[in-house]
Amino acid sequence: MSGTGRKGKILVIGGGISGISAAVEAGEAGQEVVLVERNPYVGGRVAQMHQYFPKLCPPSCGLEINLRRFKTSPRIRCLTLSEIQSISGKPGSYRAVIRRNPRFVNDKCTACGACADACPVERPDPYNFGMSSTKAAYLPCAMAYPMQFAIDGTVCTGAECGECVSACAYGAIELDMKPETIEVEVQAVIWATGWDPFDAGKIEGLGYGVHQNVITNMMMERLAAVDGPTGGRIQRPSDQKGIESIAFVQCAGSRDENYLKHCSGVCCLASLKQARYVREQYPDAEVYIFYIDLRTPGRLEDFLVATQEDAKFTLVKGKVAKITEDATGDLEVVAEDVLSGGQLRKKVDLVVLATGLAPANGRAVQIDGDLQTDEHGFFTIEQPMGGMFAVGCAKRPTDVATSVRDATGVVAKALHFCGE
Ligand SMILES: Cc1cc2nc3c(=O)[nH]c(=O)nc-3n(C[C@H](O)[C@H](O)[C@H](O)COP(=O)(O)OP(=O)(O)OC[C@H]3O[C@@H](n4cnc5c(N)ncnc54)[C@H](O)[C@@H]3O)c2cc1C
Repeated sequence: MSGTGRKGKILVIGGGISGISAAVEAGEAGQEVVLVERNPYVGGRVAQMHQYFPKLCPPSCGLEINLRRFKTSPRIRCLTLSEIQSISGKPGSYRAVIRRNPRFVNDKCTACGACADACPVERPDPYNFGMSSTKAAYLPCAMAYPMQFAIDGTVCTGAECGECVSACAYGAIELDMKPETIEVEVQAVIWATGWDPFDAGKIEGLGYGVHQNVITNMMMERLAAVDGPTGGRIQRPSDQKGIESIAFVQCAGSRDENYLKHCSGVCCLASLKQARYVREQYPDAEVYIFYIDLRTPGRLEDFLVATQEDAKFTLVKGKVAKITEDATGDLEVVAEDVLSGGQLRKKVDLVVLATGLAPANGRAVQIDGDLQTDEHGFFTIEQPMGGMFAVGCAKRPTDVATSVRDATGVVAKALHFCGE
């Protein structure tokens, strides 16, 4: 493929690692791309990680490389805070209607933070799963692209306050900004809508939302991250105590007829990785992983073997039935112990639920024709309409390396629908 311009455009829906990779590959092949992301920043779930396996590098490493290509590509139009409303037409000729929600901050923003300093309204920070707060005027995350503040219109009191307007020396605040409708003609569509964490509050007996010291695996990523709510210190939410013992509960809601039937494929590795976060900070901490089957495919098996060499690390084969918390915040995990044939009760400081990946495939979009999903709600790779493809976790739960590879392959297919 040449680097010179090609006819037509590809629409990429979702700006996680899969969508960014697809956009970059298409852009570098000479194709115009419109990328639509519902968040005020691109990066998806990977941007929320502390480190990622197998190399345990921070997202600022792998993600940053693709982001740099993304930012400098002249052929990518990136629309954040945006969602697809409808797609009509046929393969090789689609019309997409996009709603761009107001940021209330324009391109003059220098990310100086004066608006947030002046803002009197606090809100729970969704990026940190509510474990910290931001002002209504906020920078979405430390490595946000675009590097611009946004104002949360659901809590901002608007012009009657106006503190941020007075504080901004650059005229970047526009509290009367309205939603915009943008229409684009595209030849192919790539669904890179990724995944959402399964709602752990739905799982009976495990106490999420009831016991303060039961958290999810994504919360653990934020707890361990230096730009997270505790500056990277892993501690109990109830009393900020350090960790002497911790339990990871695998398949929390996964491979279960009542919740998510599928195996999310990455949760075992995520817990093994997070066990290392804990052991690095607390050399004496005991780590228990309760599992049904440990799934560490291919070369990732090495990661399991290396973790198992740690004497403070115990694997328990058995499903966790119940978690209780006492008045001091200590937890008791009750599980079957398949290998010894009995019941095990373990006191720990913190429990991490390895909740699975649920599809986030934006089926609310009005579309001419059908979007095909599998029995678990993920998109099938090639959509029956033609010229529409799914990539990364929009298709099935998977890791970053597979998502990036997928993106490259799918772009090659999508290019066939655009003119030379
Ligand atoms: C706890 C945990 C730890 C993990 N750690 C690792 C690890 O160390 N290494 C590794 O390789 N993998 C890891 N993974 C897996 C990794 O998160 C996925 O491989 C990765 O997120 C896939 O990227 P994606 O772009 O397909 O999806 P996402 O990251 O979910 O990105 C999708 C994007 O699409 C946007 N979007 C969704 N719907 C719409 C819509 N309708 N309109 C517009 N935008 C939309 C979302 O806002 C998001 O930005 C981990 C997973 C978990 C649960």
